Amino acid sequence: MTRIAIIGGGVAAHTTLKSYLAAVGGDRDPSTDTVDIFTTEPHAPYRRPEVNKGMLLTGKTPAEVALPGGILTEPGVTLHLSTVVTAVDADAHTLTAGDTTYTWDRLVFATGAGPRLLDPATNPWLADRDVHYIRTPEHSAALRTRLAGLAPTDTVVVVGGGVLGLEAASAAATLSDAQVHVLEMGDEVCARMLPPAASRWLRDRHAEHGVTVTCGLDAAALAAQIDRLDPAVVVVSVGAVRDTMLAEDAGIAVGERPGAGVIVDPAGRTSAPDVWAAGDCVEVHGELDGVPVIVRPEDEGSARTLGTLVGRQLAAGGGTGAADADGPGSYLTEPRRGWTNQYGLMLNIVGDAGTASGDRREQVELSSPEELVVFTVASGTDGDVVTGVTTVGRSPEVRAAKNALGTVLAA
Ligand SMILES: Cc1cc2nc3c(=O)[nH]c(=O)nc-3n(C[C@H](O)[C@H](O)[C@H](O)COP(=O)(O)OP(=O)(O)OC[C@H]3O[C@@H](n4cnc5c(N)ncnc54)[C@H](O)[C@@H]3O)c2cc1C
Repeated sequence: MTRIAIIGGGVAAHTTLKSYLAAVGGDRDPSTDTVDIFTTEPHAPYRRPEVNKGMLLTGKTPAEVALPGGILTEPGVTLHLSTVVTAVDADAHTLTAGDTTYTWDRLVFATGAGPRLLDPATNPWLADRDVHYIRTPEHSAALRTRLAGLAPTDTVVVVGGGVLGLEAASAAATLSDAQVHVLEMGDEVCARMLPPAASRWLRDRHAEHGVTVTCGLDAAALAAQIDRLDPAVVVVSVGAVRDTMLAEDAGIAVGERPGAGVIVDPAGRTSAPDVWAAGDCVEVHGELDGVPVIVRPEDEGSARTLGTLVGRQLAAGGGTGAADADGPGSYLTEPRRGWTNQYGLMLNIVGDAGTASGDRREQVELSSPEELVVFTVASGTDGDVVTGVTTVGRSPEVRAAKNALGTVLAA
């Protein structure tokens, strides 16, 4: 008998379940080997990236962007919608949801993250503004309705020039006749994730669509800009807060604030026996080439990678999550894959493409309004090694470039 509990109803939870069922195969007796999945949301697992894409742009419903539902109706699998897990006892192996206590043998935290909310006390410009955050379908529906009603004399301000902020700006420019402004505190948009040439490329696309992007604003300058622009709508997109509270209350190790996640090893194991975590709620501690690293994932690919590793261990492992003979595998050795879609143009990122920290720099291979290839490189013993590839387009040149990760460039 194995009772598995997964807290979360996003892609990390869904992938964990899928990977577990695939790994355990016919060895599972659904009358005793059960999986309970708990989600606060009223929707079955759906693709969250669609919240500010298909849902915002075309009004798709969560059901229309649902993750494949077959595994959720497998015998022995129970999806608890609109159910908040309020407590976990890692020693007694129980959790509480509503009036019910569930006993588990193996537990997975896949609680994701929420938007970082700005404090009105320190951001007085929030007062009396129509402020939106985007994380859920409900956020998306409210913003979509509001944007559709704006006039050309209205202004939309997006606070935050990260990927999600720029996607919100592209949606605002597409859906409304209003004037759209992006206000960013850093010196460049998406500077953490992208090489400078890709950031500039994105800014150029926004300029083509009449969106004004202003960078390098400190708090006072930001407030002054908002006073001057007097926006009808403000979209705040200034990062996410990992949902670690339940795990922390259960005595499971959590990282340092700000940005804290549930600490996991590269296979998704937490500090407690029989407890794993995957997706946006984690921070991964491990070593790469002998150097200690901490990675805080915020992308769908990472949630899938960790969920897959965790699911296999649920099928194979006991107390410490010991997996099959090949070991559980490592999140850190899988290249990260991210993307953003703005104005119908898909920008893909493979590996570590940002140049803001470390000794990485960019090498622009191709740049036009329709296509982009930028290698992010670091010095290696034999030459420059490609650590990240940023591309737009589908031509043979662009596709070939996507395979360059890890290659050593000729001097
Ligand atoms: C608007 C938006 C656009 C994005 N676009 C992209 C993109 O283009 N590409 C990309 O790679 N990534 C994108 N991301 C990031 C990506 O969506 C996330 O990395 C991914 O969804 C994380 O999945 P998750 O399952 O860890 O968390 P989530 O999807 O946040 O799911 C967490 C789940 O846990 C549940 N939960 C939390 N606490 C409890 C509790 N106590 N009890 C029960 N249930 C609980 C919540 O209800 C929720 O269902 C985007 C994110 C957003 C918000």
